[in-house]
Amino acid sequence: MEPIHPIRERRAVKVLGVVQGVGFRPFVYRLAAEEQLGGWIGNDTDGVTLEIEGAEAAIEAFLRRLRAEAPPLARIDAVAVHGVEASGETGFRILASEVLGRVSTGIPADAATCADCLRELLDPADRRYRYPFLNCTNCGPRFTITRSIPYDRPQTSMAHFTMCPACQAEYDDPANRRFHAQPNACWQCGPRLWLADAAGATIPAADPIEVAIVRLMAGEVVAVKGIGGFHLCVDATNQSAVMRLRQRKHRYGKPLAVMVRDLAAARELCVLSAEEESLLQTPARPIVLARARKNNGTAAAVAPGIPWLGVFLPYAPLQHLLFADQRVRALVMTSANLSEEPIAIDNDEARQRLGDIADIFLLHDREILQRCDDSVAAVVDGAPQLIRRARGYVPLGLELPLDTRPLLAVGGHLKNVFALASGRRVYQSQHLGDLENLTGLDFFKESLAHLMHTFEIEPEVVVHDLHPGYLSTAWAGEWACERGLELIAVQHHHAHVAACMAEHGLDEPIIGLSLDGTGYGADGRIWGGEVLVSRLDGFERFAHLDYVPMPGGEAAIREPWRMALGSLHAAGIDVESAEALALTGATANEAHVLKRMIERGVNVPLTSSCGRLFDAVAAVVLQRRVVDYEAQAAIELEGMAIDEPDEPSYVMELLGGEDENEPLRISASPLWRALMDDLHAGVSPARISARFHAGVADAFVQAAIRARAKTGVTQVAMSGGCLHNRRLTRLLRSGLEQAGFQVFQHRKVSPGDGGLSYGQVAVAAAILRKRA
Ligand SMILES: [Zn+2]
Ligand SMILES: [Zn+2]
Repeated sequence: MEPIHPIRERRAVKVLGVVQGVGFRPFVYRLAAEEQLGGWIGNDTDGVTLEIEGAEAAIEAFLRRLRAEAPPLARIDAVAVHGVEASGETGFRILASEVLGRVSTGIPADAATCADCLRELLDPADRRYRYPFLNCTNCGPRFTITRSIPYDRPQTSMAHFTMCPACQAEYDDPANRRFHAQPNACWQCGPRLWLADAAGATIPAADPIEVAIVRLMAGEVVAVKGIGGFHLCVDATNQSAVMRLRQRKHRYGKPLAVMVRDLAAARELCVLSAEEESLLQTPARPIVLARARKNNGTAAAVAPGIPWLGVFLPYAPLQHLLFADQRVRALVMTSANLSEEPIAIDNDEARQRLGDIADIFLLHDREILQRCDDSVAAVVDGAPQLIRRARGYVPLGLELPLDTRPLLAVGGHLKNVFALASGRRVYQSQHLGDLENLTGLDFFKESLAHLMHTFEIEPEVVVHDLHPGYLSTAWAGEWACERGLELIAVQHHHAHVAACMAEHGLDEPIIGLSLDGTGYGADGRIWGGEVLVSRLDGFERFAHLDYVPMPGGEAAIREPWRMALGSLHAAGIDVESAEALALTGATANEAHVLKRMIERGVNVPLTSSCGRLFDAVAAVVLQRRVVDYEAQAAIELEGMAIDEPDEPSYVMELLGGEDENEPLRISASPLWRALMDDLHAGVSPARISARFHAGVADAFVQAAIRARAKTGVTQVAMSGGCLHNRRLTRLLRSGLEQAGFQVFQHRKVSPGDGGLSYGQVAVAAAILRKRA
């Protein structure tokens, strides 16, 4: 009698998303084996394709588990399934990459050491016990060690490490966690660690990590080669060590980030919400800005003047080892550079640039090929927001709501990030820092060459900011001219709004609130507090903060007392009056010079910037004359009100509207008068700050209501650097929602200039579409 065969079914399955270089194929292999399915899987140009064959119930279980149990670094965007004819295949195979054609999904992002690897790292019985470079398909360096595509070992800085038989066997075994883990390595065959002094001489040490810990605990500055570059490290609980690092680095006020052993240690330093805890633990391991606990044991010099602390968890085995025996509680870990220079990555480069800063160097011989700073994130208004998008996020792609020809958007000036786009995909570079000098521009060019090659995008159009003075604008012009490419200029705050629209797939008119530092306006003035009724391909300036003088131009950014005097002047207060001097801390002579500058209009641009309004108010409320880092005064102003309940707002005035074609002006004059009355009445600075935040939020809500009345548009996109401000963001969002608006905020790119190039792409794509 013949055996009864169950009916066999076969399905072809296509999976789109981040499914290459993340252990997806071995995962599917194991799943197929467990469900007793035959078939195969292979990478293809935009994901993986597989076929499975077996009993229907098993196929259904397989498809359910495919999504539910996918590896931690995988991101499944879509699964398409259709039936095909069964062939009787019972075994399951992993096809070599090339079989299904060119693989172009690029390079995965760097990922933190996974739980399995961490267990091995700390297990004395494991062959990789305390090996500082262990990794697997679920974790390890990716982007930063890759020279070129396809993402395969010969294209990485692991190329010259030949795997030992044990590592090779893991690499070749589809059932192993290290199947095709490109940086796979062990004590026998992989990279080595050593110590060197500032002159470059090797310091003999049986255990370099042990020596580094001893030196750290003695208060020394240790340069540690990490994943995307060098860190400068000191014991975060040692005030004099932190001060020594600050003095050597010439970085006096800017907050420093602190790495701790694990989540429990992070909870000792900061009050963490559930969202903040999950953000801390994502494979990208960003620095998370969270509320610091009082008397948490870290030195006062770590983050002076603000209630937040940037905290993050180890993401490389080497870092885990520094914390392993609990002698080290918290380490300041800051990018090894001077102010906004690119981060150092090369051993010789590090010695040259850091020789005067670091006492010793913890080095290794796995080359870092792509510079990549730590990413910075915060939970703002209940959801994560990226402040600096770099390690762990780059080079993951973003979506665009419309198709585009291949193009390059060069971003802005400070916190530069460029973007390459083609079709509906956008790839943003890592955070490149300020393009104020040629070192910054070199980093820009280095990263551009790499990403153009990686994503095989040859730009046909170059997009830049409207500002004629930006280095990025000048460079874009030259580059486009050399190559005969088209140039498109995009207004700064329109790009911000478009970035928020594109992130949410919006391609219809919206009321854009662009509350920002400074950007070049269409009228040649300095914009930054804007209500723009926007489409992707254009905008109408519906309202803006009323212009105030910005005495000394850029100098007014570094010296907020100048902004304060400029704002008081605009509010009708004599800047030479005793009151103005007392409010701003300016000398009579300074006020006199400034007044003459304003009257003659010499080096006094006009600005509608929201960031500068914050600076001006902070200068008065905090008596802060000079800032050490961008937006310091505004950040301190927000911070001082952190425990303050919501207060009735100061009132700002909407002016204009007689002429249809003239934008409304939001005047701060009544706000200044009310604020000064409060100061005289002895109202606390924290309460004044709370009232000020409420006043700004309310004014923009009122302006949005007027825009809706005129246009019928009921959606609002909020963008610009001021949206890093938690209080302002929350008040704006709740005020807008109460007024019946649907509100969109940034979740994938920064609302600040880090997101600018993404918005530039969206605007240029829409302009090109309109023309076609
Ligand atoms: Zn791992
Ligand atoms: Zn090995």
